[in-house]
Amino acid sequence: MRIVVKVGTSTLAHETGRLNIRCVETLCKVLSDLKNSGHEIVLVSSGAIGMGVGKLNLPGRPDDMPTKQAAAAVGQCELMYTYDRLFSQYNHTVAQILLTGDDVHDETRTQNFKNTLFRLLSLGVLPIVNENDTLSTAEISIGDNDTLAAIVSVRIEADLLILLSDIDGLYTADPHRDPNAKLIPRVDEITPEITALAAGRGSRLGTGGMITKIHAAETCMAAGCDMVITNGSDAEILYDIMDGKPCGTRFVAGKGHKDADNR
Ligand code: GLU
Repeated sequence: MRIVVKVGTSTLAHETGRLNIRCVETLCKVLSDLKNSGHEIVLVSSGAIGMGVGKLNLPGRPDDMPTKQAAAAVGQCELMYTYDRLFSQYNHTVAQILLTGDDVHDETRTQNFKNTLFRLLSLGVLPIVNENDTLSTAEISIGDNDTLAAIVSVRIEADLLILLSDIDGLYTADPHRDPNAKLIPRVDEITPEITALAAGRGSRLGTGGMITKIHAAETCMAAGCDMVITNGSDAEILYDIMDGKPCGTRFVAGKGHKDADNR
């Protein structure tokens, strides 16, 4: 299977912006193992800005664009250094691909991206994708990595997108406020009711939230790609997903939905 795994800042870093060593080490170990078992893996990783905040000892996620871009420039190095080090322990080579909105909406650039990515996969490399935050301004940015991961999944015809988040999945109500909130294990269609359940905020260091995940699910499902939202605090959960065990919320793409124009 060709699997895209998206990991959010809240999974990769502590609230301080410093690396969550336990989470990242487990993630790299499990992804290496899944790759060893024959799956093609693409990682979409957030964390550039969050880690830059930690490394530069900034008081919190910056609001102004130049500081955000500076933090991303510092943090992206730290991120790739960390992945390179951890994946090489399992004999896997990583590659960095940084995209902006301009790249994914332009046909030639999209083709270039696909050519490179498919070649990397055929060379046995594990591509790691992020938004090019240092160059992205509000006008040209994709904005959040849930959307980026969905676009990447559709373009490379992935079988499955897994969003590793700090929440277990989609609930019938906000689980932080309502003790009766129940996890919804499976969604076959994005109805207005499902979209309404997703209103809410994301974490302190990252962007996005449940609504960007629902839009990502919509993009994937329309192109015939399943999507799972699950808690990334222990990446061993990826084994359960691959074994078909119920985990988080699975958005199931209807059969015959492959939308060639979307790729
Ligand atoms: N590209 C951003 C970063 O690396 C993250 C965007 C997101 O978390 O959605 O910090």
